[in-house]
Amino acid sequence: MKHRSYIHTDIVIVGSGVAGLFAALCLPESKKILMITKEDLKECDSYLAQGGVCVLKSLDDFKCFYEDTMKAGHYENNPESVRVMIESSPDVIGTLIKLGADFDTKKDGDFDYTREGAHRNNRILHHKDETGKEITTTLLSIAKNRRNITFIPQTTMIDLIERDNTCYGIVCEDEFGERGCILAQDIILATGGIGGLFKSSTNYPHITGDSFALAIKHGVALQDMSYIQIHPTTLYSKRAGCRFLISESVRGEGAILLNENGERFTDELQPGM
Ligand SMILES: Cc1cc2nc3c(=O)[nH]c(=O)nc-3n(C[C@H](O)[C@H](O)[C@H](O)COP(=O)(O)OP(=O)(O)OC[C@H]3O[C@@H](n4cnc5c(N)ncnc54)[C@H](O)[C@@H]3O)c2cc1C
Repeated sequence: MKHRSYIHTDIVIVGSGVAGLFAALCLPESKKILMITKEDLKECDSYLAQGGVCVLKSLDDFKCFYEDTMKAGHYENNPESVRVMIESSPDVIGTLIKLGADFDTKKDGDFDYTREGAHRNNRILHHKDETGKEITTTLLSIAKNRRNITFIPQTTMIDLIERDNTCYGIVCEDEFGERGCILAQDIILATGGIGGLFKSSTNYPHITGDSFALAIKHGVALQDMSYIQIHPTTLYSKRAGCRFLISESVRGEGAILLNENGERFTDELQPGM
């Protein structure tokens, strides 16, 4: 941010994971977009996602997909959001494929759908066991070639510029501690979850729920913050930092969980807690 204490742009997007990148690519190319991110561009949880993405394969599966999702959310999910997520999933996957993302297929050419926790049917599309890397690399390489998108890595949003319930931009700080402001017509916060706040986590340590903290500071209501996906299978390590996840699709493909006595003690495909 050095020597640039004020920047004006049409849209600022905070975060370069799939959420930020997909938003940037769906916006009109006539808009000047600035994307800032705390660390290097590739250092986001989206790169770490392994198992895959659930998608509505056919309309026959809608009811079952909806019920599985509601059950996994203890029926506290917003029904409208669940409906939109399921109904739009084929379009989103279609867009990703058009942009160049590759999903594994079987010998006959059909998609190789697998299963994950809470799903009764195989409806998970994947790219080997590094689906997130495949999707994020694809989106990032296209975004880098769009002339209307500029990336500013190693830059952290530290506040929102807000008055009377209107947000005008963000305050940020670069790696040298230099502060500046980005003013924009629209501000998209795509800073991921809060997993990095935990001592042991499969998330990057810098993914610390910053947008949620700023939302609280500026009086924006948050909902269902206690819902955090806890994976029961990570590779044990005494070292601090990001843990390696043993994907839940391993359980989807039949792996079982044993306790210290070698006894099976749970249903491996229970929805996450
Ligand atoms: C090991 C692992 C496996 C997973 N497997 C799956 C899976 O199989 N299927 C699935 O659907 N999901 C999976 N997930 C979850 C999935 O990865 C995330 O839900 C998704 O990637 C979130 O994308 P995002 O763009 O919202 O956030 P992220 O990809 O986390 O990106 C957040 C971005 O915000 C930036 N940022 C954060 N704070 C600031 C700030 N203050 N200022 C500037 N920039 C900031 C970060 O640097 C980063 O660029 C998995 C997650 C992990 C960790």
